[in-house]
Amino acid sequence: KIRLEHVVKTFDTFRAVRDVSLDIESGELVALLGPSGSGKTTILRMVAGLEYADGGHIYFGEQDATDIPVRERGVGFVFQHYALFPHMTVAENIAFGMKVSKVKREKAVIAQRVEDLLRLVRLEGLGERFPAQISGGQRQRVALARALAVDPKVLLLDEPFGALDAAVRRDLRRWLREIHDELGITTLFVTHDQEEALDLADRVVILNEGTIVQEGTPETVCRDPKSAFVTRFLGDAN
Ligand code: ATP
Repeated sequence: KIRLEHVVKTFDTFRAVRDVSLDIESGELVALLGPSGSGKTTILRMVAGLEYADGGHIYFGEQDATDIPVRERGVGFVFQHYALFPHMTVAENIAFGMKVSKVKREKAVIAQRVEDLLRLVRLEGLGERFPAQISGGQRQRVALARALAVDPKVLLLDEPFGALDAAVRRDLRRWLREIHDELGITTLFVTHDQEEALDLADRVVILNEGTIVQEGTPETVCRDPKSAFVTRFLGDAN
């Protein structure tokens, strides 16, 4: 379980995140939804340990996250522009995290794990290709396989399907939901796309100007929007 308590983040004088409190239960798939600049990415980066909160606390279970070194947080991260290494094959990209991990693994163990992950993300047989030789949707699946390779307890996704066309996004959405349900991994997902959040998440957290304006299941936020902002923002999807 991850808990944010009164988290604040200021860049120079600009308050990007203002007093955000949020609980994410183990195994839950939560979407952070909001317009550009609402603080979604900053929250994700603080959970990952790539950025520090300057107010409030983030807990992983009972432990204050500031006491847990980034590499020991058990977090897998997929960025907006997938950021695969172009000079490495798909298999090498997936293996990368295992090779630099503190947990030492035999070569054969890594190779087997890469095979298993390729099957999980349905890219069997493509391990020897380079990123430039596969489609955008396939690249995004490689990025997810790479994040899963080190058995993260938490998966953080920042607009993972942002650059893809609508049909591919829909496919990937269904597929991410399946993988999530299969692995039961706690997932925090950033998007500015209402349809994506409502379709995919167990719970939607709507942000505006660095604060949470509403949270709830997709059904409750659609049925009972708490402000004109939420109504307008969700309405844009239709
Ligand atoms: P987007 O969807 O555009 O990525 P977002 O909701 O993820 O938006 P953030 O990236 O969290 O928003 O940014 C929130 C605000 O904080 C923005 O106004 C942004 O300009 C500012 N900000 C983010 N990172 C920095 C930084 N390193 N230095 C200064 N300002 C920053």
